[in-house]
Amino acid sequence: MIKKILVVNGGSSSLKFQILEEETKKILSSGIAERIKVDGSFTIKIGKEKFTTEKTLNNHTEAIQLLISKLNEHKVVESLDEIIGIGHRIVQGGEIFKKATLIDEKQLVKVRELGELAPLHNPGEADIIEAFFELLPGVPNVGVFDTSFHQTMPKEAYLYAVPNYWYTKHMVRRYGAHGTSHKYITQRMQKHLEKENVNLVICHLGNGSSLSAIKNSKVINTSMGLSPLAGLIMGTRSGDIDPTIVNYICNRLNKSSQEVTDMLNNESGLLALSGISSDMRDINQHAKNGDERAQFTMRSFAKRVATYIVDYANQINAKLDGIIFTAGIGENSSEIQKAIVKELFLIDTKLSSERIKADYSDLKLISEDDANTPVYAVRTNEEMLIVKELLNIIKK
Ligand code: ADP
Repeated sequence: MIKKILVVNGGSSSLKFQILEEETKKILSSGIAERIKVDGSFTIKIGKEKFTTEKTLNNHTEAIQLLISKLNEHKVVESLDEIIGIGHRIVQGGEIFKKATLIDEKQLVKVRELGELAPLHNPGEADIIEAFFELLPGVPNVGVFDTSFHQTMPKEAYLYAVPNYWYTKHMVRRYGAHGTSHKYITQRMQKHLEKENVNLVICHLGNGSSLSAIKNSKVINTSMGLSPLAGLIMGTRSGDIDPTIVNYICNRLNKSSQEVTDMLNNESGLLALSGISSDMRDINQHAKNGDERAQFTMRSFAKRVATYIVDYANQINAKLDGIIFTAGIGENSSEIQKAIVKELFLIDTKLSSERIKADYSDLKLISEDDANTPVYAVRTNEEMLIVKELLNIIKK
């Protein structure tokens, strides 16, 4: 029997999955159930083939039932006994989950409670875990939290200058996100540099974007805050703004603070600045064709990232082992890599025009050998870290 691991990433109306072989870590299949509680659509990918089913999915349990039957139908699993564990990406672990944790009924209550802080994510993932309790009883569920890796931040980094009881009674503090990716990259660099303690500024630039300052392989600061809305300019999120704007626009547009916050999450960022798209590929294409607004948008994005890099280098206050670009934009866009480095006036580095163009599988140096601060592009792999953390727990 070939042992397999299921990795699940759930939202309020969606569920992404990957199934991998335990031994080889080979991805056997991946896919997504979407529009759960709306109407329902399910896509499963096996190799290069893709199969889509339109079927009403009233809740997460129905989505998982369909997932299990499709895994059987396409012979991705012959028997459900092959699944030895389920790893769940959970957005918010608060101060409770400082590391990956085996989720039982008791822990599940805490995951749900933390939904106060991540209403779009934690409740959906909690529903998914509950459905697995019912449909695959006996198979361990491990929660890997996007906030855990950031729990090493000092108070100076996580406490906001707001009334203290907002923190003590209402959990208001910086938690950060994308921790799974920042941790994966840190470990990848430790291995690459053959060094236990690494000092890095990691730039996770995707649809959502965040930076982390890594000193001696631990997070000392990160750009997302109580929620993923803070920090960099993102696909549709504003990143840092003056908080007064919310109340001002509520009054001007006669909207609720929730509606305005939704606009800051869904109608802002690259989409708003460019007036073109939230997708960097589209913006880059327009910029190449001479569109000044697209060019300005790319510069704004790059300047914000560069400002954070310099700030974090200062906070790390030690020789940097690298500035790392990762996630969709970071891994692939040489234009953005160049635009960011161009703005790093206080950091001594130089990109190599050859290396920046070169194809790579999972990691490449893109700076010149004589650059004081090396710059790398590294492909992130959150699923791989989830599998590793899951195996650490279930094999104990
Ligand atoms: P998510 O946060 O949804 O996981 P990704 O990490 O996949 O996002 O990143 C999506 C972003 O990466 C999009 O803005 C997309 O345009 C950008 N991207 C992907 N490939 C490229 C590329 N070759 N050049 C520029 N941008 C790219």
